[in-house]
Amino acid sequence: METMLCATLPGDHTARLERRPVPRPGHGEVLLRMKASTICGSDIRCIYHEHLGKGPEGYQDGMIAGHEPCGQIVAAGEGCRRFGVGDRVIVYHISGCGVCNDCRRGYMISCTSEKWRRAYGWQRDGGMAEFLLAEEKDLVALPDALSYTDGAQVACGFGTVYEGLEKIGVSGNDAVLVTGLGPVGLAAAVLARKLGARQIIGVEFLDERLRIAGALALDGKPLFDAVLKSGDDNVEQVRALTGGAGVERAVECSANAAARNAALRATRKWGKMVMLGEGGSMSLNPSPDMLHEQKTLVGSWVTSTWKMEELVERLVAWDLHPEMLVTHRFPLEKVADAYALMASGKCGKVAVCFDEELK
Ligand SMILES: [Zn+2]
Ligand SMILES: [Zn+2]
Repeated sequence: METMLCATLPGDHTARLERRPVPRPGHGEVLLRMKASTICGSDIRCIYHEHLGKGPEGYQDGMIAGHEPCGQIVAAGEGCRRFGVGDRVIVYHISGCGVCNDCRRGYMISCTSEKWRRAYGWQRDGGMAEFLLAEEKDLVALPDALSYTDGAQVACGFGTVYEGLEKIGVSGNDAVLVTGLGPVGLAAAVLARKLGARQIIGVEFLDERLRIAGALALDGKPLFDAVLKSGDDNVEQVRALTGGAGVERAVECSANAAARNAALRATRKWGKMVMLGEGGSMSLNPSPDMLHEQKTLVGSWVTSTWKMEELVERLVAWDLHPEMLVTHRFPLEKVADAYALMASGKCGKVAVCFDEELK
């Protein structure tokens, strides 16, 4: 095949399809046949409506979109050390320099090299295409027990959530509050449940998302113990649901200022909260909100390659399939509909799929 179908985001609420030459892998690179490419909230926030992102979130005009790619290697360049033709792989979505301190920790997301740090679907071509050129060092093996659509969600959403939950620690001791029930918030609830959380409460503004969250089940039980419409009384509601104490752990995925404050205040004394939602602001009264209550507030940005490998292993052990959160699948030819639906928010996770993943 000489050319391939691919999609770019011009920044005017559309996705544009075009044909381009199929790339050839160079040294240390592989060519993937794309199988699943999911859409992230950040694609909508920073690229789809308007090219708003700066720095690491700066989309370079004309780049093939999609930073949650999963596929199968169909060609490998010279010098590949671990992966080869036929391997099923997830792509860690930022290709870092590999040798700065952050890259050496496995966190290519915060690579400090201006020249070499390039995110798939932002500063280098991403997964909304029939084929993707990737660097071998950015790959994570996809076990046979997981589908490509499972894998695409590990690439950004589930990996990001797993990292955040590991930073605050979640166990059977904990009631967990999740604010913002888009795909990231739903992933937080799913992983918290598998880590043993004894109670999970969700807060969301959009009715469609409340409905989706309320209908989700895991291992034969409702995923959430309660889903609350966001409002002024959320802190009181959460306290009432937790015997007056508040939750041990909170996971903030909405980026909404009021929700952030509510999450922090609904976290009990000695509790911990992680912030995953990007953008926006927050006002804080450090003494009453944190110091006097002995609370820990942490920020978390994506994850590392080794933690992604660990998550993939646990997904298999837990028999957990992230594709459970995918509500809509589209072929690449209908990529414009896929982005428009994601932009409407009236959905769970939206995936562009190929071949056997296009059920
Ligand atoms: Zn993302
Ligand atoms: Zn680096």
